[in-house]
Amino acid sequence: MKVTFLGTGTCIDTSKAQSCIMVEGEETKILVDIGVGAFMRLNDFNEINAVLLTHNHLDHNGDLLALLKARWLTGGEELLVFGPIGTKAFLESLFEAYAYLRRKPKFKVLEDPEFEIGEFKVRTIPTRHSIVSQAYIIEFDGKRVIVSGDTSPLKELMEIECDVLIHEMSLPSGRSDAHTTPENFAEVLPFCKAEIVYLTHMYPHAYEVKDKIIEQLKSVRDDIKFRIAEDLMSFEV
Ligand SMILES: [Zn+2]
Ligand SMILES: [Zn+2]
Repeated sequence: MKVTFLGTGTCIDTSKAQSCIMVEGEETKILVDIGVGAFMRLNDFNEINAVLLTHNHLDHNGDLLALLKARWLTGGEELLVFGPIGTKAFLESLFEAYAYLRRKPKFKVLEDPEFEIGEFKVRTIPTRHSIVSQAYIIEFDGKRVIVSGDTSPLKELMEIECDVLIHEMSLPSGRSDAHTTPENFAEVLPFCKAEIVYLTHMYPHAYEVKDKIIEQLKSVRDDIKFRIAEDLMSFEV
């Protein structure tokens, strides 16, 4: 599978799109999150089969309505939208506000903890953030990629076998119940099963000290390859 970071930024970045990761199999393309700015990164918005929302914060779902409207205007197919419990009600409330779009775009919201989309097998695991949130474990052709979404680090997530872990690193230091810092990540790093860890969703003050953060993490696990995710960076698994 091919993974492309379409957006690695946060709510306050103007040089990066907000959270959005495209995962491509042979015939299926999915997005994990679609924050503000991500819509502009899509080459063909009608090719996307599904959007997997980690949670309903603006920097993770802000361009979903833009995608749905564009597909409606261009006769696109039904879009599958997966998300944690409450996603359906959340989207209904958006269409209450944008009444002119009601019942126009074709989409289906699913809150299943496990599902298949085309050749992908996907399961979710609840994460720890300021609102209900979940991580995605995506499998294709014997390979597995995990996308954490926003969360403070979880041992249960780290213990899952995977080839690549894409994990948030919002903050440069300290403790947080809702986000990841090098300190709280270091506590669960001994359980990490991934060979490669991409750090994303770094606030500017974390991004500024990215090399120091990698050094800190390397001091705990020097067998893991740590990389900083950048907009439009791609890798194959
Ligand atoms: Zn969030
Ligand atoms: Zn976020």
